[in-house]
Amino acid sequence: MSGAAGEYLDLTRVSQRPIRWAGAISLSALPRLAAAVADSGGQATVELQAIQANGQVSVHGQVQANLVLTCQRCFGSLDFPVKADFNLAWVRSEEEAVRLPDVYEPLLSLSGRVKFAELIEDELLLALPMVALHTPPQACGGDQRGKVQPPARAVKTPRSKPFTALKTLKHR
Ligand SMILES: [Zn+2]
Repeated sequence: MSGAAGEYLDLTRVSQRPIRWAGAISLSALPRLAAAVADSGGQATVELQAIQANGQVSVHGQVQANLVLTCQRCFGSLDFPVKADFNLAWVRSEEEAVRLPDVYEPLLSLSGRVKFAELIEDELLLALPMVALHTPPQACGGDQRGKVQPPARAVKTPRSKPFTALKTLKHR
């Protein structure tokens, strides 16, 4: 199999023969991910296997990508390497999903035809942090030294600080 982003994984065929797939997909071909990263120029590499065991079709593998996110503290770029393992079980309904053993994440599809690109995009989105921040905080602004600080939205926070201080005092 080649690695074209338009290809489908046909889970209905897994009962006859396991499917192995390895390839790379441009991040720019993953629109939801592209909207969440600072640079969609790279690629994601994927290795996966779809098998059937005890009547359950599952898809497991690993996705890797070097993502570039925007730090929410300094608005600078932030390298975020992702290496995520996944273990999905094909289900056709929410009810089936609820009954799955904990080791699986549900892969909901009525037809059993799953677009590789969407599966990979979902896994990458799951691997993203809730809020992207440089760690440690001192690493912030590393590539911005000497530039004028942008008017940060975070300026609001000092206002609530006296209250936070009060709360802490009360609890003592
Ligand atoms: Zn930062």
